[in-house]
Amino acid sequence: MAEPPDLARDSDALTPLLEELAEGFAELPLSTGVSIDARARDVLHETAQRLQDNFPYFHPLYAGQMLKPPHPVARVAYQLAMSINPNNHALDGGRASSAMEKEAVAGLADMFGWQSYLGHLTSGGTMANLEALWVAGQLAPGTAVLGSEQAHYTHARISQVLKLPYESVASDARGRMSTQALAQRLRGGGIGTVVATLGTTGYGAVDPLPDILKLREEFGFRVHVDAAYGGYYALADNLEPETRASFDAIGEADSIVVDPHKHGLQPYGCGSVLFKDASVGRFYRHDSPYTYFSSDELHLGEISLECSRAGAAAAALWATQRLLPLNPGGEFARDLERCRGAALALFARLQDDPRYLTAFAPELDIIIWGPRGASAEAVSAASRAQFEAAARHNLHLALIEVPVALLLPYWGEVALDGADSVTCLRSCLMKPEHLDWVDRIWQILDELGAG
Ligand SMILES: *Cc1c(COP(=O)(O)O)cnc(C)c1O
Repeated sequence: MAEPPDLARDSDALTPLLEELAEGFAELPLSTGVSIDARARDVLHETAQRLQDNFPYFHPLYAGQMLKPPHPVARVAYQLAMSINPNNHALDGGRASSAMEKEAVAGLADMFGWQSYLGHLTSGGTMANLEALWVAGQLAPGTAVLGSEQAHYTHARISQVLKLPYESVASDARGRMSTQALAQRLRGGGIGTVVATLGTTGYGAVDPLPDILKLREEFGFRVHVDAAYGGYYALADNLEPETRASFDAIGEADSIVVDPHKHGLQPYGCGSVLFKDASVGRFYRHDSPYTYFSSDELHLGEISLECSRAGAAAAALWATQRLLPLNPGGEFARDLERCRGAALALFARLQDDPRYLTAFAPELDIIIWGPRGASAEAVSAASRAQFEAAARHNLHLALIEVPVALLLPYWGEVALDGADSVTCLRSCLMKPEHLDWVDRIWQILDELGAG
């Protein structure tokens, strides 16, 4: 058997850092806490065993769903902070980590060109979107929220929670919001907020933000950019011109969501929401004047729907951004460009091979394809078979139901009539090291394609 992967490689770094952190509290009288005895050790052994029942998300041959391992610095910083367990709902619950959160969020805002804004971390993208749509609903009560049919499924659910009507419009042949469909719906009136997804969860499609902003001038609605997954691509230099133009326009949005736990190298529990107009802080019903929202005295819990949040998440993000600043051309940006490079390289291999069916090229780092077949049913069955077969070769892909309308322009020779959707293979190439593993991944697909 091969050597197991070295999951313990960060643990050496942690001990001396915990000792260094403890020096800050050396004046306190000694108090011994609970330590790990034999019984606890047994439980932890059992935990390690139970956790083996996972796909190897950390490994480059895991190329399925939207998962990315945290950076070692994020992991160690999280554990360091967790040993104190600060709570960023208030300054006295997490003094240092609240300051770190404000600095880290400033880094996120700066990525989109915002110097003045209101923003904070959240437990994830869903909470962040909830907050953005909640503010939108406060500003335009009773109006509808509108996304494309490829918008994240939680927008409909969030709107229901907020008692706002939710509608969706068609997407185009690359899974982007159709500008025509949007314009047509806007003429009907009643739309208060348009959710532009920059990087859809299914295909990584980027809605045409410049067109949406042009329509805003005519129809006057709020623009919320859901960039939970795609937001960091603002830094990449290898996007198509249309994609680039959408990212360049993000600063014109009214609110933005980006998830550091998607592409930002963070452990789960780290999303963020940013508002262009800091005065929306008034909706959180705080009595202080609104200059308070940019002061150092600001308690993050007073501008957040959530109360308790992990200060450790803020410390981890702060440390990661300190090491890898969010600069175009920097190491973090280069790594994202490698992810997109990996997706383009694998897509090119699949596209050149007659045994496979591809559709649109990836806009970011997600690709979809299917083994060639005569009908929707044949492709779906072959995709499912290949998904299983790849896993037996330790290559972990994902399956996705693709609406037939999206495939029609590309799959002329496949009998698609009668079917609503086709099961396709999907791969999120979200690790920079995927670029070095494209050959290996292709080698497995090449062998499977022959079978
Ligand atoms: C992942 C994702 C979400 C939901 O975010 P969570 O962090 O999973 O709650 C929302 N929108 C988009 C576009 C996403 O990719």
